[in-house]
Amino acid sequence: MLGLMQDWPLLCHRIIDYAAEQYGAREVVSRSIEGPIHRTTYTEVQARSRRVAQALERDGIGLGDRVGTLAWNTWRHLEAWYGITGLGAIYHTVNPRLFPEQIAYIVNHAEDRVMLTDLTFVPILEKLAGDLKTIERYVILTDAAHMPETSLPNAIAYEDWIADSDGDFAWRSFDENTAAGMCYTSGTTGNPKGVVYSHRSNVLHSMMVTAPNVLDLASTDTIMPVVPMFHANSWSLAFSAPMNGAKLVMPGAKMDGASIFELLDSERINFTAAVPTVWLMLLHHLEETGKTLPHLDRVAIGGSACPRSMIDAFQTKYGVEVVHAWGMTEMNPIGSAAGIKPAYAHLEGSDKLDIQETQGYAPFTVEMKITDDEGTPLPWDGKTFGRLKVRGPGVSRTYFKGEGGEILDDHGYFDTGDVATIDPNGYMKITDRSKDVIKSGGEWISTIELENLAVGHPDIAEAAVIGVAHPKWDERPLLIVVPKPGSDPRADDILSFFEGKIAKWWMPDDVAFVDEIPHTATGKIQKMALRDQFKDYRLPAADVAE
Ligand code: AMP
Repeated sequence: MLGLMQDWPLLCHRIIDYAAEQYGAREVVSRSIEGPIHRTTYTEVQARSRRVAQALERDGIGLGDRVGTLAWNTWRHLEAWYGITGLGAIYHTVNPRLFPEQIAYIVNHAEDRVMLTDLTFVPILEKLAGDLKTIERYVILTDAAHMPETSLPNAIAYEDWIADSDGDFAWRSFDENTAAGMCYTSGTTGNPKGVVYSHRSNVLHSMMVTAPNVLDLASTDTIMPVVPMFHANSWSLAFSAPMNGAKLVMPGAKMDGASIFELLDSERINFTAAVPTVWLMLLHHLEETGKTLPHLDRVAIGGSACPRSMIDAFQTKYGVEVVHAWGMTEMNPIGSAAGIKPAYAHLEGSDKLDIQETQGYAPFTVEMKITDDEGTPLPWDGKTFGRLKVRGPGVSRTYFKGEGGEILDDHGYFDTGDVATIDPNGYMKITDRSKDVIKSGGEWISTIELENLAVGHPDIAEAAVIGVAHPKWDERPLLIVVPKPGSDPRADDILSFFEGKIAKWWMPDDVAFVDEIPHTATGKIQKMALRDQFKDYRLPAADVAE
């Protein structure tokens, strides 16, 4: 017997309808690509997104067609997402930080038919356009006054493109499992693979992150997703902020400390989210200028491990609570968040940091396990390392066009490629990507833990740890550091900073100093490039402390 409730498919565009109806006057504020701060409302965003759907339909786009976006977080990008999904087409966010060849590969692989691009990326696209065979039209996200001379075929300014539509468009209705969005993995090996989010997975995930135990979103919030819409759906905030009627602030192309601070301050933002690199720049700016963060209550940090020193700085110096979260493109993307369960509510100071430093626990809709290489589940004792696997309505079951073959185990779990421990209260701690973990004398050493400790040293700006070959132990850790500007730390001083904080055999065998550590398009340390850079490196002593 079926339930007798109404069939109301969970469709993304219902979110903007709801925001317009219940919170129509709430603002969407953006730093425009052209320069000035732009202000609009959910009522306007909804009306203009219907015009986007009309313009796309006029161009022959319909159900299932892919529409590429190469764009920063702005109100126009937001309107485009809702217009595209309301037509039943699929937004395909392209990460502009990828190499041009990778951009060409994924646009061709996704068979995007229209490309919406910010002014910033017109020059890149002009170079690539000859190779982008499936693109029929380029829409430049600007107005006629800022429209550049361009060789892009069939190019039009966004404002002109939607000006010919009256907004009288009825959203399409279809099954909630219909594809809504696409994002390619930024895999370091092989070609990027396409992840396809459904309307249902986007809506469920946005409801999930709203919960008090996860990101705790409300209509009284002013939210700034610094995390870009092209990085794993801006962690849902382009959906979950309107769903909750929060004021939304979009930072555009500028993510340096001063620009981010300016918006945090002038728009009185109380919740924001980004990768640790962005917060390093902000904290540096605050230190330099002596400014504070009086309006900010909470910051979500994820995408790479958040160093303990960063959590401590936000909380102790600036009174901003940190929510450390973990996720990935193959999820919607949030898979865990480090809220405090009752079992840990009594903790303070350093003990509380121990919990906040973990990647947190799985919210409802995410099931998690750790296994050995044979797939046998491992205990949740907070000590045993294993392969982290997940399943749920916001986890990929396959990649676009079946690339990569079968990706689930016999129980429907997806192997995240991360290595983690899980404690008896469900708190998961990532120790490494499985391909980055160091195996020394048959035991695992967590590079993330060493890196996080290293950046707590007052003279270190950034740190990475890689395994280098060792005749006796197979591999030993090499610590690679970027010193803070104006400081000149010594290797033995850095290593003595580790003493007493880690097991003796985890101690890095040497420290190498570099000016810069290479990063991927989503801000992660490029371990493969570092391993290549240090492939001829030899450790100073053949033997190590036991
Ligand atoms: P992406 O698909 O680019 O978002 O990358 C996902 C990967 O980033 C995960 O599988 C992890 O390896 C890493 N990651 C994301 N969040 C965290 C976190 N909070 N701590 C450690 N690693 C993280």
